[in-house]
This record gives sequence, C-alpha cells and structure tokens, in this order.
Amino acid sequence: MQVVQTIAECRAARKQVERLALVPTMGALHEGHIALIRHARNLEAFVAVSIFVNPTQFGPREDFTKYPRPIEEDLSKCRDAGADLVFNPPPGEMYGSDAKPILIDIPHLTDSLEGKHRPSHFRGVCQVVAKLLNIVQPSTAVFGLKDFQQFAVLRAMVELLDFPVEMVGHATIRETDGLAMSSRNAFLSPIERRRALAISRALFAAKEQYIEHGINQTSRLVATMKQILLPPASNALTADGDLGRVPVSIDYVAAVDAVTLSPVEVVREPTLLAIAARVGSTRLIDNVVIGEV
Ligand code: AMP
Repeated sequence: MQVVQTIAECRAARKQVERLALVPTMGALHEGHIALIRHARNLEAFVAVSIFVNPTQFGPREDFTKYPRPIEEDLSKCRDAGADLVFNPPPGEMYGSDAKPILIDIPHLTDSLEGKHRPSHFRGVCQVVAKLLNIVQPSTAVFGLKDFQQFAVLRAMVELLDFPVEMVGHATIRETDGLAMSSRNAFLSPIERRRALAISRALFAAKEQYIEHGINQTSRLVATMKQILLPPASNALTADGDLGRVPVSIDYVAAVDAVTLSPVEVVREPTLLAIAARVGSTRLIDNVVIGEV
C-alpha cells in the first residue's frame, strides 16, 4: 500500500492504473469505513482511500479541532482492508494558505435536514469531494448511506456537473445493539453511549410501525420517534445511568421522500426517516429507508 501526501504524488500513483475506486473519509476509521473499502475492492481491482479532515465542511462552533486523527491506526486498517493507495494531504496541500471561497450549492437538496442545521456544511463537502474526484479521478466512488443526504447531494453534483465517475452508496454499518457506527461515537461516555441508542431504536420502531401495522401517516411515525427520544420524565435515567431513557436533544426528526428529500405526509416508498440529535456535546445522525432506494 502506497501512502502519499501531495497532489502530485497522488496523480502519479493514479496514472499507474486504468480504473480505480475511491473511498473518501475523514479518518478515525471504524467498521463502517472498512466495509466501504472492502466493497470498493469488489468493484475495482485498485482501491484508493483518502483521509482528510476537511476544515471547510465544519461550522465555526463545530468539532474540527477535536476531531480524532489516529493516522497510524488508520493506515494499518486501510492496509488490512486491502487498500492500494492512501491519499492523506495536510490542509495546506488542499487549500493553500489563502484559499478563496468557492460555492457549489444544490439548494433543492441542501436546504433541508443537515443543510438547514449546518448552513455551509454541504458547500464544504461538495468542494472537497469535487477536488478529490479531480485529483484521484476514480472510475467509482463509494460512500456510506449513514450520511444519506450527503450521498444524495454528491450524486446530484456528479450528475449535474458531468463528473465521469460511478457513485455507489453502501448500507449503514451498525454496532450489534443498533447504534450506527460513527467516528464521533468515540466522544460518548458510557452513559451517553447508552442514551445514544435511542436514536436507532426510534428509527427502527417507526419503520416497524409502518411495516407491521401499516401506519403510514408520517406525523404518527415522527411522534413515535420523538416519544422514544424524549421519554416522559417518569421514565428518566436512574442514578446509575441505566435504561438509556434520558432525553437526547433533537435537531430534527424527519420523514422525507428519499429521492427529493422533500417532506411527505404519507409514506410513499422510498421514504427516508432521519434523525439528528445531540447526546451531551456530541451530535449524531442516523436514518433508515422505508422501501428501496
Ligand atoms: P467520514 O469519515 O465520517 O467522513 O465518512 C466517510 C465515509 O464513510 C462516508 O461516505 C460515510 O457515509 C461513510 N460512513 C461513515 N459511517 C458509516 C457507517 N456506520 N456505515 C457505512 N458508512 C459509513
């Protein structure tokens, strides 16, 4: 496995092969990322992973500086998962010392959900992924559906700007108890870790209400999710932190069309159920899809 830090080295390594798959990441790799790398291996004979904590997608009060950066562990995980090339540029390599703003915006997909709560987030994501696609020039790029809106936005960017790359979405990888894997889970205390479980439980419960009981009004599904996230005080956490029933702080609980990301009143497959919530100071997102995307 080759590890490169400059754009020039990355382009030179890329030239050695005709086709390759790219898995863009911000590092602090977990089984979710590894699944993407393994999937990429099945799609292309050569796999590149980028590891870059992209400053332009973090808001001013977000966790850019404290975002974990365990680069040596990440490299060995990439090696074990079968990556051929890792592109790990320092911020200066990507943006220079005097980066001018550039805006790629796709308002019909970025105005809702994450975009509403993190106003410049997707501009930063589009900026860095556009650069990575131009630098690495992959034939295939693999993304996780844990960040469902991100995938929708990037797929639209690639289509609308004619990037010659096939975009592949991969199912969310979860811990055995259902918590979606995330680099930010490392910030959770053991008690917060239990409280965070309410997020996946809420999503699964709402999906089950639809599948098992045919409840298709999204207001009822959203109410179910909120009830699990914000249980009545009588269910609150016991002193030893058991039950995981202390409310998390909700950013949004939404039911939207999984293609247009517009709110729907009645489930019309595919419908996306999505939650963003803060557990302590850690902001987590998760989603499930009803139907096929
Ligand atoms: P990040 O390092 O958080 O920017 O994520 C890099 C890529 O891994 C993105 O395409 C994410 O959607 C994907 N990813 C993160 N967590 C998971 C997960 N639990 N399951 C599947 N993909 C994931």
